[in-house]
Amino acid sequence: PRLANQIAAGEVVERPASVIKELVENSLDSGASRVDVEVEQGGIKLMRVRDNGGGILKDDLAMALSRHATSKIHNLDELEAVASLGFRGEALASVASVSRLLLTSKPSEQSEAWQVNTHGQDMSTELLPAAHTDGTSVEVRDLFFNTPARRKFLRTEKTEFNHLDEVIKRQALARFDVGFSLRHNNRTIHSLRPAASQAEQERRVAQLLSPDFMQNALVIDAEAVGLRLTGWVGLPTFSRSMPDMQYFFVNGRVVKDKVIGHAVKQAYRDVLYHGRHPCFVLYLTLDPSGVDVNVHPTKHEVRFRDQRLVHDFLFRQLHRALAEVRP
Ligand code: ADP
Ligand code: MG
Repeated sequence: PRLANQIAAGEVVERPASVIKELVENSLDSGASRVDVEVEQGGIKLMRVRDNGGGILKDDLAMALSRHATSKIHNLDELEAVASLGFRGEALASVASVSRLLLTSKPSEQSEAWQVNTHGQDMSTELLPAAHTDGTSVEVRDLFFNTPARRKFLRTEKTEFNHLDEVIKRQALARFDVGFSLRHNNRTIHSLRPAASQAEQERRVAQLLSPDFMQNALVIDAEAVGLRLTGWVGLPTFSRSMPDMQYFFVNGRVVKDKVIGHAVKQAYRDVLYHGRHPCFVLYLTLDPSGVDVNVHPTKHEVRFRDQRLVHDFLFRQLHRALAEVRP
């Protein structure tokens, strides 16, 4: 089990950013309306994710750290219909096997908080009483302390932090209804309240990406053939200066997909952005049966049932919007 655990850990736990992704996804799955993230030294020394979600019962705490223990899937039919972000039940176990992990939780139906901790492969878990308001905290220290080969692949504190910040940005762009904060080495990087109105959402996007982007952005809101596209696309002056701001979400999950990429590029190229990089934050919503999002746990791939339909819809909507602002 020792070797298997560490090999499997490699699949999801590559660097601090991958840990943050899994922990925040768990918080979101638990129904949290606020997620606070605190890290030190790019996450290498410490990562702490605290949420106000449903929590974990005392009797389930040790279980949450064991492999293939998930509370989210009970049979194959549910795997098909899965709406939650995590479903393989291995993230916490994988992280625990390569760090010192402290899990503290208080479900609202329980009057006290409890915690368990693990040190790498030493999975003996002792339950201790703790102080915590409703919700869960996961603290991960000394990532890869027991796997020097993997630790060698970590880059500088700054690089690791940038990756981690990118994860938080995507999650904050995917869930306007949730408040997020991020602190690095005791400095506040993001502090975002839930954003309900269009104006509040635009303020969040501006804070996360760049005020320039929002000032020049074109609002997209279109619906046809069972597909809905909302969000913002950047205009040319901006596109020149910031080449890499491309966020596409399908049913709330960030996605990098050839079909989408092609449609977007084509729309920009056809209209006015010849040779330039498009900038956009776009949200495609469709019936879950029209898309398979569980292609791979860490790669951001999807498979559309009807690729042609999605491609043509995206192209047509973006093309039309961009054509209207042709200089
Ligand atoms: P998965 O998310 O795939 O189920 P994880 O290893 O990420 O597997 O988590 C294991 C289990 O621990 C989850 O199914 C969930 O029951 C519980 N859990 C983890 N993090 C949280 C959290 N922040 N709030 C509530 N429950 C959690
Ligand atoms: Mg999970």
